[in-house]
Amino acid sequence: MPPATLADLHDSLRDCRQCRLADGRTQVVFGDGNPDASVMFVGEAPGFHEDRQGVPFVGAAGNLLTELLTSAGLARQDVYIANVVKCRPPENRNPAPEEVEACKPFLLEQIRLIKPRLVCSLGNFATQTLLGSKVGVSKVHGQQFQLADFLLFPLFHPAAGLHQNALLPILREDFQKLKQLLEQMAATPPPAPAINPVQMDLF
Ligand code: SF4
Repeated sequence: MPPATLADLHDSLRDCRQCRLADGRTQVVFGDGNPDASVMFVGEAPGFHEDRQGVPFVGAAGNLLTELLTSAGLARQDVYIANVVKCRPPENRNPAPEEVEACKPFLLEQIRLIKPRLVCSLGNFATQTLLGSKVGVSKVHGQQFQLADFLLFPLFHPAAGLHQNALLPILREDFQKLKQLLEQMAATPPPAPAINPVQMDLF
């Protein structure tokens, strides 16, 4: 039976060993923020500080993300932040395809339980995982993709903005696009929940 709450899902993952990333981690870095958030951010994987603290996006990339959130009118505690893989890859290497596949169901379950209207994928791994495509984030950043249950808005990963000076202004510009998108969404009520077949039989 799928977990009923985000806390149940978190508890079920504390000792997860479904991929080899379990071998090198200090702890599973599940996610952080408002479990009822309407906006969710998905990064790649925990790094050194995240692995130690058990919280995603701490350290320099986390500080930049917090600053960018503020620029878009968002407070960090109001959104939910997670990663595609929940355990730190050794030496911060890229997650391997089989590790992404092993952990992807947990990300999808997080999204199902949080029910955000908007998901911002940060970088290639999150964008490709959620879009179900090999397209690079450099081709789709700052664009909107309506998926079955949420609107996807890909962005460069903040760490890329720190390491490549040319990307930082693009990242800042995309967060201003995000601010405009949030203003549009605030003016549009979310669609009414679908009536399930049992209720329909009553009419
Ligand atoms: S990365 Fe995901 S699938 Fe792999 S051990 Fe950690 S929680 Fe489990």
